[in-house]
Amino acid sequence: MHPVINTDDCIGCGACADACPMGVIEVEDVATVVDADSCVGCEACLGACPVEAITEIAED
Ligand code: SF4
Ligand code: SF4
Repeated sequence: MHPVINTDDCIGCGACADACPMGVIEVEDVATVVDADSCVGCEACLGACPVEAITEIAED
C-alpha cells in the first residue's frame, strides 16, 4: 500500500510526512514514498495535504 503523490502539484510543505505515523514519506523538494511496505492506509497524509497532491492510497 502506498500514497499516490502528484509531484506536479506538491509544494514540498512536509505536512504529509509530519502526519504519517509510519515514516512512509520523506520530503526534500517534493514528497517521495520511501517505505511503501510500512503504509497502513490510514489516509492521514491525504488529509494533511493542503493542495490535494496526494490523490489516493493505492493497494499495490
Ligand atoms: S496512508 Fe497513513 S501510513 Fe500510509 S503514507 Fe499515508 S499517513 Fe502514512
Ligand atoms: S502535504 Fe502535499 S504539498 Fe505538502 S509535501 Fe506532502 S504531498 Fe507535497
